[in-house]
Amino acid sequence: MFCNQCEQAAGGTACVQIGVCGKDADVQSLQDTLLYGVKGLAAYAHHARRLGMVDEAVDAFVEEALFATLTNVNFDMGSLFELVLECGRHNLRVMQMLDEGHVKRFGAPQPTPVYEGTRAGPGILITGHDMLDLYNLLEQTKGTGINVYTHGEMLPAHMYPELKKYPHLAGHFGDAWQKQRREFAEFTGPILATTNCVLIPPESYRDRLFTTRVTAVPGGRRLKGDDFSEVIACAKASQPLPEHKVRESTIGFHHTVITSLADKILAAVKAGKLSHFFVIGGCDGAEAGRNYFARYAAATPKDSFILTVGCGKYRIRNEDLGTITLDGIGEIPRLLDMGQCNDSYGAIQVAVALAGALGCGVNDLPLTIVLSWFEQKAVSVLLTLLHLGVKGISIGPNPPAFLTPGVFRVLQDKYDLKLIGSDPLADLVAALKKG
Ligand code: SF4
Repeated sequence: MFCNQCEQAAGGTACVQIGVCGKDADVQSLQDTLLYGVKGLAAYAHHARRLGMVDEAVDAFVEEALFATLTNVNFDMGSLFELVLECGRHNLRVMQMLDEGHVKRFGAPQPTPVYEGTRAGPGILITGHDMLDLYNLLEQTKGTGINVYTHGEMLPAHMYPELKKYPHLAGHFGDAWQKQRREFAEFTGPILATTNCVLIPPESYRDRLFTTRVTAVPGGRRLKGDDFSEVIACAKASQPLPEHKVRESTIGFHHTVITSLADKILAAVKAGKLSHFFVIGGCDGAEAGRNYFARYAAATPKDSFILTVGCGKYRIRNEDLGTITLDGIGEIPRLLDMGQCNDSYGAIQVAVALAGALGCGVNDLPLTIVLSWFEQKAVSVLLTLLHLGVKGISIGPNPPAFLTPGVFRVLQDKYDLKLIGSDPLADLVAALKKG
């Protein structure tokens, strides 16, 4: 593995430091891990800042961490490892700020049925993660006869009272980011992409794709401010959508909803009616092998809950995973959709609350975490879990390319970090044996 300078040389740029810097592959791997973690943290911090939530300590850490990735600044494995875990600590704070920002601005989340499909008439599809963009779009489309639909990671928007109060927030259309090219071509109205999880558009919908602020794609139109009149004009000029219902689903199991039921959930655990909790989610992707997560979820015991976050949920939400009936609660879905990838914060809060109530540590809970892996936000969430000392997490389908075997071995030894296998049933049996 080459350092940054050597990579430049390989690309044709002269590098005066070849053979001088002496940086080894494991140091480079930790610096890359830190860099990807900071990038993920920065994305969440950007959304939080727009909601008025900032923390000077986080900003200072971002400077420190980026500085530490400069060549020749930090060659020490131990101190780099500390910084990597510090990134996880600060990302926890950022996810907390984002969670609080959403709740303060858009109200306390509630379990909510969501219409999936389209309604007859003009529509705008919004994808990405930025709830404030959705709020501004809903305000600006009031009374225009245009419906607004969520896509991908915007699905959790429907759980917030101040967003779902708009009658023209008509439903949800589509799946995880990698299916965009087919889904956006089918959707006849404009598409507003609010974050990086957007693909370069083909001709078929290029003139209907708008992006906001940091997000930009060749051929799309980037909007730098909060004025969506171009998008609205495009919706008026586009072919109306047909009435087409795909299904109705229930989302909105925010951590405050689940922890408000904690006493009843605990009673069920103590009475032996609930055997296990799983967290299955993260970033979805297009590679082969990702049906592992669907097969894993389908095989989980009928007396267990599955908490899900991120677009990894789209791998498992098409399965009929059934319901559980608990005393004092009634019938609730076994698959509890907690929200976006940043709502991993909520899954952590639920685990900490359960551990506190049962008088044990998070690692002693009947809890298994299986994360699908793709981009920088997943790195920052994983670092948060490691910072909290959570052990035995499984990730997949592939090892992160920036982790050398040496660094991965350290994470395995210290945190029992695992790669998913090829047989989800065998992995599930092993996880259940561990308790
Ligand atoms: S979960 Fe990850 S891959 Fe999916 S939309 Fe969010 S950041 Fe992108």
